[in-house]
Amino acid sequence: MTDIAIDVQDVQRVYHTPFASVHALRHVSLRIMTGQFVVLKGRSGSGKTTLLNCIAGLDTPTGGLIRVYGHDLTALSDAQRTAWRRREVGFVFQSTGLLPNFSAYENLELMLRLVRMPRSERRKRILNQLDRVGLLQWADHRPSEMSGGQQQRVAIARALVTAPRLILADEPTSDMDSETTHDIMALFQQIVDENETTLLLSSHDPLVDEYVDTILYLSDGQIQES
Ligand code: ADP
Ligand code: MG
Repeated sequence: MTDIAIDVQDVQRVYHTPFASVHALRHVSLRIMTGQFVVLKGRSGSGKTTLLNCIAGLDTPTGGLIRVYGHDLTALSDAQRTAWRRREVGFVFQSTGLLPNFSAYENLELMLRLVRMPRSERRKRILNQLDRVGLLQWADHRPSEMSGGQQQRVAIARALVTAPRLILADEPTSDMDSETTHDIMALFQQIVDENETTLLLSSHDPLVDEYVDTILYLSDGQIQES
């Protein structure tokens, strides 16, 4: 299949601050096909987080069009966009974003509650997902009891537990040593290979290059030819 997963057309995002207008994205256009594994590279401040947030529907572009699996995000209301995101997108944040007072199991369960999955189905899904990231024995542990790499695995499991077709990951390996980075990238590669999942991650680490199909470069809010 050559379906288009992400279609970004002429997207701009301007942040208005009291002191200046910051052009975080300047006329960005790109297409990512279903099942593609793509890394977005660029130095700090180049617009990676802004672009991922716009594609996830967490932020709204100032101009342009974003379609994800054919849905025009800019045409949805905030409530519709939130409902859409919970079902279709798994988001891995740089800071993991795990709830500190919840166990690994409970962090995953929250995502399934948000999509109103019945309790009977939740348990199987959660345990299966924790097993896939190699953390079944850690189900009842809180994030603070785990290493940074384990916490990021929980965050990845949480992003995957709703079986989204699209996974977005914002610098998921930025705080990790090279061995953990290789582990996490191998896990992402496995996820893409197994389930026709489309995966877009941002990074400035050259270690990730060998795992992805496509490298996109962002510089000063613009896509550079690679
Ligand atoms: P990256 O993730 O590549 O480091 P960002 O998308 O975070 O880049 O930021 C792109 C640009 O937008 C930077 O100049 C940053 O300072 C600016 N920026 C990001 N978020 C905001 C905000 N909420 N308000 C004002 N400027 C912002
Ligand atoms: Mg960023």
